[in-house]
Amino acid sequence: MSNALPETWSARCRCGAFTARMSSPPVLQLVCHCTDCRAVAGTPFSNFVFFRARDTEVTGAATKREFVADSGHTTVRECCAQCGDMLIDRTAGFPKVVGVVAERIDRPFTFTPMHHVWADSKLPAVEIPPGVAAHPRGAPA
Ligand SMILES: [Zn+2]
Ligand SMILES: [Zn+2]
Repeated sequence: MSNALPETWSARCRCGAFTARMSSPPVLQLVCHCTDCRAVAGTPFSNFVFFRARDTEVTGAATKREFVADSGHTTVRECCAQCGDMLIDRTAGFPKVVGVVAERIDRPFTFTPMHHVWADSKLPAVEIPPGVAAHPRGAPA
């Protein structure tokens, strides 16, 4: 079977000082509607792509914002120290994966989320499309 996907994926902030390189395919893609994401990212929801932590290499100076998520786990959001773009999400609840902000992943990657999490907290104007799983609270186990 032919596979058009590249062997590696890369992501970067707007200014290019903070980057990530992933050497295996994503394990989970989701949209998060929690209030923490809104506070940190300043967007109505966050698009995250999770890769295996052991295959993800992050380089560059980052500002880390740590908080206890609604799940009860400590979560760290890593933003570029220069331009402030949020790029990386690490949570104690899922130590084997690293979340990368979907919009920051270089082409030809296409974001295809199959899950929406924390749907209970979503903004009323945001609609979850049909055909994807909506979880009232945290990520599927
Ligand atoms: Zn930057
Ligand atoms: Zn969230």
